[in-house]
Amino acid sequence: MDSAQCSLFLITPQDTLSPVFPYIDMLRSVFKQVGVIQDDDLSLRRKYPNSTLFFLDLDLFDDDQASISSSGSTCTFTMDNRLTWAKRITQSLAHHPVIVCSSETNSSFMLDCLHAGAADYLLKPLYLPVIQTLFLKLHRRQETESAPAGPTPSSNQTTPLDLSTSSPANELHLDDDYVFLQHDDVHHRVKNFVSKDNQLTKAMMDIYAPPLPFPAKYIPLSSRQADELKQKLDSWDFSPFDYHQDELIHCVYLMFEMAMASPDLAHIIWSQDQWYDFIIDLANAYHDDNPYHNFAHAVDVMQCMYYLLCQLNCFPHKQKNKKRTAARLTGKQVFSILLSAIGHDAGHPGVNNMFLINSRTPLAVMYNDRSVLESLHSMTLFQLIKKHRLDQNWTPDDYQQFRQTIISSILATDMALNNDYVSKFRHATAATDDPMLLCSALIKCADISNVTRPFARGRQWALLLVEEFASQGDLEKELGMPVQPTNDRTKIVLEDFQISFIRFVALDLFNAVVTWLPELGFTVEQMKQNLQQWEFEKQQRTCQSLPTTTFANTTAGTKRRLSYCLEASTPPSLINGFPTSTTPAPTFSNCHFPDDSASKKSRFSPASSPTPTLSTASTASSTSSCVLQ
Ligand SMILES: [Zn+2]
Repeated sequence: MDSAQCSLFLITPQDTLSPVFPYIDMLRSVFKQVGVIQDDDLSLRRKYPNSTLFFLDLDLFDDDQASISSSGSTCTFTMDNRLTWAKRITQSLAHHPVIVCSSETNSSFMLDCLHAGAADYLLKPLYLPVIQTLFLKLHRRQETESAPAGPTPSSNQTTPLDLSTSSPANELHLDDDYVFLQHDDVHHRVKNFVSKDNQLTKAMMDIYAPPLPFPAKYIPLSSRQADELKQKLDSWDFSPFDYHQDELIHCVYLMFEMAMASPDLAHIIWSQDQWYDFIIDLANAYHDDNPYHNFAHAVDVMQCMYYLLCQLNCFPHKQKNKKRTAARLTGKQVFSILLSAIGHDAGHPGVNNMFLINSRTPLAVMYNDRSVLESLHSMTLFQLIKKHRLDQNWTPDDYQQFRQTIISSILATDMALNNDYVSKFRHATAATDDPMLLCSALIKCADISNVTRPFARGRQWALLLVEEFASQGDLEKELGMPVQPTNDRTKIVLEDFQISFIRFVALDLFNAVVTWLPELGFTVEQMKQNLQQWEFEKQQRTCQSLPTTTFANTTAGTKRRLSYCLEASTPPSLINGFPTSTTPAPTFSNCHFPDDSASKKSRFSPASSPTPTLSTASTASSTSSCVLQ
């Protein structure tokens, strides 16, 4: 396209007599055809060839010609009237560029013209070289209109927006802005929002859950291995640390397979490949270098959820021979809550909400400081659900319920809201029929279920959680932020941390839930035993003047060795529960450093993650007598 193929029409206000266009010869020297039309319905509604530009001379309303007749009455055009006129013309000719020109040098006025929909503003006097470039506006308009729905062709889809800065590259391009305004068409505007929202969510995914250079891959599973894994999944002593990542991916698949066997979901058909692709993508959305909030934690929470659901008889098709009690959740709800469990921390950056809020991250601003991480996790999960078409095959109502269950469950894991939830659970009774509340209760319990697992399992998790907190504390110090009390590695004492958490948080939650759901009473029993064990260890340490378990920031190699030491110090009798009264309390005097090659199976195990270490700098004072509580 060039100017010689384009037409240009000058528009005159209604009833204007003999308008003068001193530049018309110059226009004719550039364009194939130059015409003059009246601003009236007949002219504006006519269909013009695509290669037509329109030209609006706003000086036709200068002071000398201020009074003109409009619709039979006389009115005076002011600066605002000129803008109103320009806007009306650009709206009427929405599919063509409208160029305005004027002698007005006020820059605000020039911008207002663009915002009113003008494709360009030319300051008089006009010059030939400028006129020769006007056809480019037409070219841009045609490109925009022929672009498919979705991101604009000019956007670089492989480069995420840098949300940490407000560089000009991230701002709405002026051209896009006025093109969109010129259309001023609701559908066009909404499509624009949708396509740009997609870019925003993609940018967030790229930042918080970027694709891995070496993503997890599918490794086939024999039926014997599947049976073994199923058996383990039915055990409360399950630990993700016992498995490689590919085995964990199979575990997730097997639990979903169990949920999908519900007659409730018979109409939903997703292929095995589709499932595995989704699970692998989800595993990759977790950051394995987080000591605690990684894929192993997600699998642990999902297995806990699966186990609790079994206790509540939510898999009637699986438990045919057991005494039947009414299932409290439908098959669809069971599936939704399992999906919530495995996705509830997707994209977790390894720092908590308070850190994101205090450092005023764009993420916290976006979610208004409310359940920032939980909102991110839910968004991330739904991006993957959409990507793998797991949002297909639902009826609109079912999909809405599926989505609401997942969102409400994941948001319930925000510990800042814990007390509110606990008081709701306290008011629930056997007659309470509130699936959303039940899902909230189950996922909250599953999320902090480490303290209800056999002691040795819970201890491994406690060490990793404390290390993640301490690591955040290091970062807070480095950034000059106030260090949150639970994050100061020189002050954290493992036993105190666990005792306080069980006494003041976990017991309240589990007691409320178990009163409502007595089938889950075994969790409180185990937690009470674990509390006794932590208190026992604290007493032992005090009696023997052993070093307090604080968390020195040492080199990775030392950390790894000391993690073995911590593990090795735990007597085998503790592996499956509370020790007998004759079992000596674990001490750190029998530490030994096994060879590095003797690694645990899982890459998530404490052996391969940054782990807490013992510091001898701080010791507890000795006491003359020691009485177990
Ligand atoms: Zn979690």
